[in-house]
Amino acid sequence: NRQILFMQRPKGMPNDAVFQMTETAIPELQEGEVLVRTVYLSVDPYMRGRMNDRKSYIPPFELNQPLTGGVVGQVEKSRHPEFVEGDIVAGMMDWADYSVVKGDKLNKVNTGLAPISTALGVLGMPGLTAYFGLLDIGQPKEGETVVVSGAAGAVGSIVGQIAKLKGCRVVGIAGSQEKVNYLIDELGFDGVINYKTDDVKQALKEACSDGVDVYFDNVGGDISDAVMSLINYQARIVLCGQISLYNLEKPDVGPRMQGQLLINSALMKGFIVRDYQDRFKEGISQLAEWVAQGKIGYRENIVEGLENAPDAFLGLFKGENIGKQLVKVSEV
Ligand code: NDP
Repeated sequence: NRQILFMQRPKGMPNDAVFQMTETAIPELQEGEVLVRTVYLSVDPYMRGRMNDRKSYIPPFELNQPLTGGVVGQVEKSRHPEFVEGDIVAGMMDWADYSVVKGDKLNKVNTGLAPISTALGVLGMPGLTAYFGLLDIGQPKEGETVVVSGAAGAVGSIVGQIAKLKGCRVVGIAGSQEKVNYLIDELGFDGVINYKTDDVKQALKEACSDGVDVYFDNVGGDISDAVMSLINYQARIVLCGQISLYNLEKPDVGPRMQGQLLINSALMKGFIVRDYQDRFKEGISQLAEWVAQGKIGYRENIVEGLENAPDAFLGLFKGENIGKQLVKVSEV
């Protein structure tokens, strides 16, 4: 069984020394456990936070232990009454060919809804993050202007489409011309700014002539400062992610835009998708309906081979993905 171990806590951008492939034997199953073969492995920006030895909403990765993340896999053996060989399941598992998991930590994937990979994307954690963050905190209303950063990613691309379904004008911010084209031509965004080539502040001003009512923030930093300078009275800022800051060697302490919140009586609220755990069923069933009706489109960027998981993870910080970044480890 190949596993990828976490070898050292990175400073700044992680490099190859952080990861090491190893081979281990698969342990005997205990009562209540299930042996799962990894089919798809999810790489996610939040994992960078777990590489630091710092208190957060989820404990840090342990050195010399396998990295763990979202997995969709197939049951090979089960000593848990609810699972049988062949079941497709999702849960937190090792970066490995096989994981032994407690059955009560696994969810069965409804294979009738959509391809099983979507359980890690539009019908999984990123889709739910978009759904609850935008609708519950952002409260978008018809005719309002919604701006989303990280717009072509797993979360951002769904946020923009839900905002369109709610009758909003949607402006995205993303890092390449290919992403701009995808969001406008395929997903129906009203405007998209390429933050690597455009003057973000100026382009945003032009794209949001009525100001910004909802800002769904996936990135933080200068991009967010530019959006904040345009918020309207009683705007809602959904603090979802700060990816532009995750690899800073020194924490970002620059003056940011709180003054804008004050003078606009605006709300800024952070959240972790887990806050909405009790409503995941509702979220998945609504997202699945929209996907089935063709109202929400999604893309996946799939890299083949467990050995390529570290590069796929690092690619998130270079903007290599459009939509959800996955690693395919085996066939169903
Ligand atoms: P994405 O699929 O959006 O992948 C990350 C993207 O971020 C890249 O493709 C890249 O696109 C962009 N990016 C990378 N570095 C920078 C940078 N320095 N400045 C601006 N953009 C950058 O990932 P997810 O959709 O999974 O996650 C998006 C955000 O949401 C992350 O910040 C993540 O931490 C957060 N999140 C929060 C959750 C919560 O519960 N609060 C749950 C899930 C995710 P580009 O080409 O545009 O630069």
